[in-house]
Amino acid sequence: MQTKFVRKDIVAMESYTPIVPFAVLSRRLGRRPDEIVKLDANENPYGPSPKALAALQGGEFFHIYPDPEATQLREALADYTKTPIEHLLCGAGADEAIDLVLRVVLEPGDGVIDCPPSFGMYPFSTAVNSGHYIPVPRRADFSVDVEGVETAVSTHPHAKVLFLCSPNNPDGSVIAEADLRRLLALPVLVVLDEAYVDFAEVSGVPSRLNWVTEHENLVVLRTFSKLAGLAGLRVGYGAFPQWLLPHLWKIKQPYNINVAAELAAVAALEDKEWLHEKVGLLVAERERMIAELGNISYLQPYPSHSNFVLCRVANEGLPNGRSAHQLKLDLEQEGILVRYFNKPGLNNCIRISAGTPEQTRGVGSIEEIGD
Ligand SMILES: *Cc1c(COP(=O)(O)O)cnc(C)c1O
Repeated sequence: MQTKFVRKDIVAMESYTPIVPFAVLSRRLGRRPDEIVKLDANENPYGPSPKALAALQGGEFFHIYPDPEATQLREALADYTKTPIEHLLCGAGADEAIDLVLRVVLEPGDGVIDCPPSFGMYPFSTAVNSGHYIPVPRRADFSVDVEGVETAVSTHPHAKVLFLCSPNNPDGSVIAEADLRRLLALPVLVVLDEAYVDFAEVSGVPSRLNWVTEHENLVVLRTFSKLAGLAGLRVGYGAFPQWLLPHLWKIKQPYNINVAAELAAVAALEDKEWLHEKVGLLVAERERMIAELGNISYLQPYPSHSNFVLCRVANEGLPNGRSAHQLKLDLEQEGILVRYFNKPGLNNCIRISAGTPEQTRGVGSIEEIGD
């Protein structure tokens, strides 16, 4: 009735479908949360480091507003990333940083180039900020269609932002350095989302975070959600070029990083051995999962540099084929949650996060589930 007061583009917008909350699922499946193996959102199954938990327990100033500049955390990050503190800004998750960049940069109708399949927040935040979404689909092997992006930039005079996710969610592929350099030569702001780069560094794929000091049109985003088991506390960060920072600081909600999040994140960075050990375990688990899933007749796992494995499920029509959607539901009945996709580039696919060895012990027996 009063919808006339709502922005027309918001009325027209599709809503983002986040994963079903843990508590809701627990009730629906009639299983206690600890009886659910949650492999659908790439969270870190090991949770926060003991040092982060101790910092939370010892927190004294939860009644005081947090530091708007998250100074202690940015100091710790400057040290951790070897990037000058002036380039760093923290967000309530990398998600907030995505939104902040678009809020500063986009005028209504400005173009945002995305390379789908990729992270759902790019089209979402583009729509919220009245941007024009320009998809340049990835190739069959999930590599970025560099020529396609170049063409999109030259044919859309209002293209301003390019999102690149590396390792890419949901397949785990990384962008080649030569491709990244070529795309950085374009007259757009490149937002490189490295939410999963910690799992790629193990195999020699470095973070480009400190490239922001050399490239005026590069933003690099990272997060504590996947690496440090802090998804529930919402804390991420980015490195940004100097010209962009004053405007980000200006529009940012002053208290976006809450006291608990900053305490836990700083303490997590003081526990690097613990973080590295867990990354090592998750990468080993990922490799074991790829090997075991590859033995299942109807699954084709893709190589991954991240903490998850994307699997193509042979279509129901084929011999040995089956429905990925039904597979997801069958696993759910066993208390195992995975992410299901069925959209261009991701037809009949499931994505399984690396869990603890106990959680994924049953991966090889997926074949029997639901049969
Ligand atoms: C999970 C994820 C994020 C969001 O991280 P938060 O810090 O929890 O907001 C960003 N980018 C990608 C690609 C992700 O998968």
